[in-house]
Amino acid sequence: MSTSTYHSLLEETKQAQVQLLAVSKTKTPSQILELYELGQRDFGENYVQELVDKQKQLPPDIRWHFIGHLQSNKVKLIAPFVFMIQAMDSIKLLLETEKQAVRNGRTIPCLLQVHVAQEESKFGFPAAQFPQLLNDIIDLRVKGRLDHVLIAGVMGMASLTDDQEKIRREFDQLKQLFDQTKALLPGDPVQTLSMGMSSDYRLAIQAGSTMIRIGTALFGERNYTRG
Ligand SMILES: *Cc1c(COP(=O)(O)O)cnc(C)c1O
Repeated sequence: MSTSTYHSLLEETKQAQVQLLAVSKTKTPSQILELYELGQRDFGENYVQELVDKQKQLPPDIRWHFIGHLQSNKVKLIAPFVFMIQAMDSIKLLLETEKQAVRNGRTIPCLLQVHVAQEESKFGFPAAQFPQLLNDIIDLRVKGRLDHVLIAGVMGMASLTDDQEKIRREFDQLKQLFDQTKALLPGDPVQTLSMGMSSDYRLAIQAGSTMIRIGTALFGERNYTRG
């Protein structure tokens, strides 16, 4: 990690008024601490056990964002401390998060992950099911079954492609779904549109992103020793 890379990225995000989430999956606590000492507080992790281990070792004022696919039976492990769950991709997961939030006496902000990319393997609600999802959420609210989960916005990923126009269209679609969420859930703090990674964050910012999730451009290439 180079200090000047961090500072130039930070400058860019300040200019654009977007938040910078440092994606620290597979990185060591000391690498995270290096960025922390430069002032970074928001970090994103993809794996529950890795996050739990790091959280224990690192300063308590770090805001941990869970950005990976989350299994319902693991919510309880991160519910006591997680700042935001960005990869909310089923009603079942929302309800489990509600349960664990109550158990921990807190409310947990979440982003609805929408699948707009062409890749089959990516998680998230299909865009076509999004209106139904918002209706279901409103319904659960009315019934008092979702009082401890805050819908803070939308998260998504564009396709891995060199086709800039395709990426742009996918980001535009996420922005539309974000605006729809804001309109339909006026009681929630719908303020975060989390989109844009190392390879496409500039396009994401142009399309209205409010938070970019950057790993490689900050820390260098990851060594995938795990899934
Ligand atoms: C790994 C990851 C990122 C960061 O990707 P880079 O290309 O390394 O910047 C962002 N978002 C999610 C959901 C990720 O899993």
